[in-house]
Amino acid sequence: MAIPRQALLNLSIFPTTTLVNERDHLVLGGCDAVELAARFGTPLYVFDEATLRGQCRAFKAEFGQRYPDVSIHYACKATITVGLARIFKEEGLGLDVVSLGEFAIVRAAGYTPEGIVFHGNNKGPDELRQAMAWGIGRIALDNFHEIALAEGIAAELGRRQPVLLRVSPNVDPHTHEKTTTGVLDSKFGIPITTGQAAEAVRLIQASPHLELTGLHCHLGSPIFELEPYQTAIEVTFAFAAEMARRHGLQMREFSPGGGMAVQYLGPSPAPTIAQYARAVCDAVKAEAARWKLPLPRLMVEPGRAIVGQAGVALYTVGASKEIDTPQLQRKYVALDGGMADNIRPAIYGSRYEAAAASHVTSGPLEKVTLAGKYCESGDILVKDIELPRLAPGDLVAIPASGAYCIAMSSNYNAALKPAIVLVRDGQARLIRRRETFEDLLRCEVV
Ligand SMILES: *Cc1c(COP(=O)(O)O)cnc(C)c1O
Repeated sequence: MAIPRQALLNLSIFPTTTLVNERDHLVLGGCDAVELAARFGTPLYVFDEATLRGQCRAFKAEFGQRYPDVSIHYACKATITVGLARIFKEEGLGLDVVSLGEFAIVRAAGYTPEGIVFHGNNKGPDELRQAMAWGIGRIALDNFHEIALAEGIAAELGRRQPVLLRVSPNVDPHTHEKTTTGVLDSKFGIPITTGQAAEAVRLIQASPHLELTGLHCHLGSPIFELEPYQTAIEVTFAFAAEMARRHGLQMREFSPGGGMAVQYLGPSPAPTIAQYARAVCDAVKAEAARWKLPLPRLMVEPGRAIVGQAGVALYTVGASKEIDTPQLQRKYVALDGGMADNIRPAIYGSRYEAAAASHVTSGPLEKVTLAGKYCESGDILVKDIELPRLAPGDLVAIPASGAYCIAMSSNYNAALKPAIVLVRDGQARLIRRRETFEDLLRCEVV
């Protein structure tokens, strides 16, 4: 059967350098996926450097050409390693971090603290102290407990700490319940509608040790619509105008957070970065004009949209199981990874496409369910997908695996976390080696 390569590969979901070579192998960043698997083993996470840098540049260019003062902060929680952080640094991105662990990684890549924002809904005293002692650029205060803690620690260190206030604008971004953060019933941010955010502004403005530079909101992720950003900007600016009158707030900085989507499935394209940029920049300019506020510096915090498309997970096919009854036909094909390296399908019901990386277009099509190897029935990576027939030893690629896979990976079943390679112009560079049994045993007290 002649299958159009395009149809089986859905190139818009894969890294921009993706090709199929004359051996019918998937090629990423000029590297044959079968050779990558042979050299580095599987499961393997491959990041395409051209796609990564392209996304960094697109965010800077698309927002930069529509707004006078923008900084792009990569949200490290989406996936961070020293090697990736070096690239973000070269591309001139600021960062968001949510733990001292993320600090440690980006410091090792040579990041200095000024361009870093510290997020999280329960930053502890040790974390705040260390972040301030290090000279962190901004702390996004999330609740009253943190305001009091930060105030005390800044006083103790004799510092006037620049902070943002994370407000909850009560806007539903229509994404998964578990990744919705800007509604009233959320653990994140101080609600505007209850009057609590106004009280927080009053408290911070009264503090000699905290300097409130602006407001922050983050709605959730992934957000496939533009309108939630516009609504959140309207709500936050109306609040900022009220706070200017009541508490003398000068909103010199504003962040609409991150949440920009990437395409996971053939039929569900995400808005382009240009579309997000236009929606956000136009809304910020319009609201600033409406309330006669000076244009704040715009801090944009993409995580997923920077790394999602650049990452591809490679797995080797093992066992299979066929159920063929009048009520149920299903063929499970088991891969050598699964929920320990990508837990998103199990916790969010996330869906992915896949490709037969060792024979992208050859062989009869078969509907299969790609299962992981871990001891949970929910360890299914892709349910019911048509792929060229898979045999043991074949290679499967899952695209759009750059965000929140490695970052959420675990040692469940004492699995070893996979290696990560960076590919570019036919060269593959290991940026995180596969874990070993020594790594697993390192913390054991025997
Ligand atoms: C998670 C998070 C982001 C990034 O979200 P993405 O969906 O990965 O773009 C940005 N800002 C804050 C405060 C976050 O918590």
